[in-house]
Amino acid sequence: MKITDVRWTPVFIPIEAPLRYAYGSHPGFSRLVIELHTDEGLIGLGECYSGASREGQLREMRALLIGEDPFQLERIRWKLSSPSAQKLFGNVLGYAGLEFACLDLQGKAIGRPVCDLLGGRVRDVIPFAGYLFYRYPNEHGTGEVSNGEQMVSYARALVERYGFSTLKFKNGVMPPDEEVETFIALRKAFPRARLRIDPNAAWSVTTAVRIARKLSEHDVEYYEDPVWGMRAMERVNSKTPWITLASNMSVFAFEDLAPAARMNVLDVVLLDPHWYGGIARAHIAAGVCEALGLDVGLHSGAEFGISQAAALHLLASIPNISAAADSHYHHLTDDIIAGGKLQYTKDGGMAVPTGPGLGVELDRDKLAKYHDLAKHQEMGSWIEDPRRPGVVAVQPKW
Ligand SMILES: [Mg+2]
Repeated sequence: MKITDVRWTPVFIPIEAPLRYAYGSHPGFSRLVIELHTDEGLIGLGECYSGASREGQLREMRALLIGEDPFQLERIRWKLSSPSAQKLFGNVLGYAGLEFACLDLQGKAIGRPVCDLLGGRVRDVIPFAGYLFYRYPNEHGTGEVSNGEQMVSYARALVERYGFSTLKFKNGVMPPDEEVETFIALRKAFPRARLRIDPNAAWSVTTAVRIARKLSEHDVEYYEDPVWGMRAMERVNSKTPWITLASNMSVFAFEDLAPAARMNVLDVVLLDPHWYGGIARAHIAAGVCEALGLDVGLHSGAEFGISQAAALHLLASIPNISAAADSHYHHLTDDIIAGGKLQYTKDGGMAVPTGPGLGVELDRDKLAKYHDLAKHQEMGSWIEDPRRPGVVAVQPKW
């Protein structure tokens, strides 16, 4: 089988209400949907972060990929995106989307799901966390979450609808002490839930240590990227040994894993098949974490159904995952895959697709519809907030 064409489509899908995080807000989610065409008529699907720079990566790699056999993934990796090319030229995100599509083609060619290419599944259903954000009101004037009371009632609605037993509270938006009060309100409302927080490295070491002390009696599942950089994370870890630290920002690549373990930077590595250069590479990274005695979780970057399926196959085949996976997926109002959005089980899980490859197909009408919306959206920029023009968030914010 030979790859004959590489195509991608910018897509924007609306969400229930604009999400706020430390450095801006998301009006909706935008991604590039990738298709690899082959001489055998099979089409492999991939997906990556959007934006002109990612489209540029795909444009550059397209010529190198045409004519290759999608089964020869090591050859393709070294040709398109070696570790040094990933680090020096930063093309890992575009490459990862192409890797998803190669694995999708492999699975379709032999009639087996992608998880079977990774050693097979050790679980059929992946548990997910409900993802709590502060939100602006949507165009109908609903959905706002700006204080503790609104956060608790939003969390109740999510738990009732999806059955989540883990909740992730996105921090770094309101002053830290206000967010602590909201965390404590969530803990009171959900005494048995696992609750994690993620201020996206918006806090200084001083603030992070003070907040960790205030939260010490409130059963934080883990504290994700309170500060920026491995050295600062190490400082927080050494000063707050009772709290479990996780990261997808200071530690997000293969070469970070060994130094992170040596420096005692964290306890939970949040893998992401996009950031680690594909599903197969993230699977290997999980093995490295196992050897280093690090726990494994999953980071989410606002995926559509193709990337969500990639995550499901990855997690189905990783033995050493203990925390519920993060996912923005429940915020989406629709998806570009056939049959509509992937469904949650009644207790907040999602079944691993059983069809060949990634097990999802495109809904061409929806792809066209949401591509139209993408034409009117600024793609790829998460670092601005249209409701706060001129505001530039520095690190640390507090
Ligand atoms: Mg994070």
